[in-house]
Amino acid sequence: MLGQMMDQELLISSIIDHAALYHGDTEIVSVNTDGTQMRTNYSQVHKRAKKLGSALTKRGMERSDRIATIAWNNHRHFELYYGISGAGLVCHTVNPRLFPEQLIYILTHAEDKIVFFDATFIPLVDGVRSHLPNIKHWVLMEARSEELASQHDWMEFYEDVVAEGDDDYQWPSDLKERDASSLCYTSGTTGNPKGVLYSHRSTLLHAMMSATPDVMNFSARDCLLPVVPMFHVNAWGSPYAAALAGAKIVMPGPGLDGKSLATLFNDEKVTIAAGVPTIWAGLIQYLEATNTKLPHMKRTVIGGSACPPVMIDKFRDEYDVEVLHAWGMTEMSPLGSVNNLKNKQLDLPDEEKKVIRLNQGRPSFGMELAIFDEDFNQLPNDGVTQGDLHCRGPWVLDEYFMAEKGTTLNNGWFDTGDVATLDADGFMTIKDRSKDIIKSGGEWISTVELENIAVGHPEIAGAAAIAAKHEKWDERPVILAVKAEGANITEADLLSYYDDKIIKWQIPDKVIFVDQLPIGATGKILKKELRAEYENVLING
Ligand code: ADP
Repeated sequence: MLGQMMDQELLISSIIDHAALYHGDTEIVSVNTDGTQMRTNYSQVHKRAKKLGSALTKRGMERSDRIATIAWNNHRHFELYYGISGAGLVCHTVNPRLFPEQLIYILTHAEDKIVFFDATFIPLVDGVRSHLPNIKHWVLMEARSEELASQHDWMEFYEDVVAEGDDDYQWPSDLKERDASSLCYTSGTTGNPKGVLYSHRSTLLHAMMSATPDVMNFSARDCLLPVVPMFHVNAWGSPYAAALAGAKIVMPGPGLDGKSLATLFNDEKVTIAAGVPTIWAGLIQYLEATNTKLPHMKRTVIGGSACPPVMIDKFRDEYDVEVLHAWGMTEMSPLGSVNNLKNKQLDLPDEEKKVIRLNQGRPSFGMELAIFDEDFNQLPNDGVTQGDLHCRGPWVLDEYFMAEKGTTLNNGWFDTGDVATLDADGFMTIKDRSKDIIKSGGEWISTVELENIAVGHPEIAGAAAIAAKHEKWDERPVILAVKAEGANITEADLLSYYDDKIIKWQIPDKVIFVDQLPIGATGKILKKELRAEYENVLING
């Protein structure tokens, strides 16, 4: 044998081992379900995660058994991430905003053995329990309460479970990096939700790349507040990436309104946050109304749906916060691309740099993107041609959980369902989801572009563009818009606002003002519902 390197598996437990060893006193601040706060650190979390792993093993859980969580971002959820996966089990994060039927479907499909849940979800859990006879333990993520125990004889308590674990427990030594570590389901906007089963290796590689400067850029000098829920693609992997860098973490619990977030950002000196645009819209409204600034915040990762340019401008110009516009999917752990400039772009005029910063960014090492036409011919990376976006890499899924072999990929690539352009530097612009894009007389109109313009109008608080059926053009754009508070903008005002911003034939045919837009379980606008309601407005008059 030639001399070589140590053969160590890439395991999730190694992240928390490292954090405890070298960043043991770095704080984890957690907001409880009742709004109170508690402070712990990597050393404590590490000890408790191991005890938890031990307790689950003692209870007979076996390699790759699924353990579900229905919980906010808090320290116990963080311990579960490491305790479950560390012990060789699969941490299955479940989105509590799903309908009960979807919840039952997912928990049955995943064959979960134990469910850990926050107090907020007691009624939800109680409602679905009788449909899930195979789940043996329902554990409330709190210390024992005699009152609750007497009300619910089926309920167990987190602190009791942790106490069952051994202090000298060692993570299993035969765990392999390709073993399964965690499971997330897509929100199932089309058909039943599908499971994506991550491995230790995919999670570690994703976390290591996420921490690098051109991705999320985590260091031991940072303080992260993940607004994106831990049940939404593992909070975009940030609880792993921040821990391996030794960053302080603030877990915001259930309070995701502008006031609660702004207070935490400033009290805890948060330097980096991550979340979907709808959350940031609420924060900005609060900051503006109260004239609050964000003196410690340096950058925020915004993704999950397209970040409107006006949001990027506001964060930069008024709060000195850099927006990292990111794109990804459950199927890709989720990071696909993040917007950061390159060296050669630094000397460009500010206006040109601003334009580059608007798109969804470029892939890091480990992610390959390509666009194809309908016949699977690869299209050029010229920044103009748009096509079906595909990707591949070590943290992209190979097969949906329990799906029939060979049914997921397209010639070795994962088809994202997005329509995009790519330029020679890898900068990618999402034009639309393929099922949302508007096909008007054979030409494509991007709903993302139409929405970005609408929300750029100071009197518009939210907007969604949909394809409405049209006798002559097949489909034409219609905008559903929510007025800002106190605004009295008219349809004609908004339509004329498009005049100098977009080619004439792409200007929407109609504006419909609505009180609010339907928002789904992961904070995205539910276009399907809007289409069902409004797709005939141009035909029926
Ligand atoms: P779901 O498909 O259930 O909504 P995901 O969170 O995996 O769950 O969503 C992935 C999709 O979200 C992507 O395919 C893309 O359409 C959209 N998306 C994510 N980030 C962005 C972004 N920055 N800009 C535009 N679309 C985005």
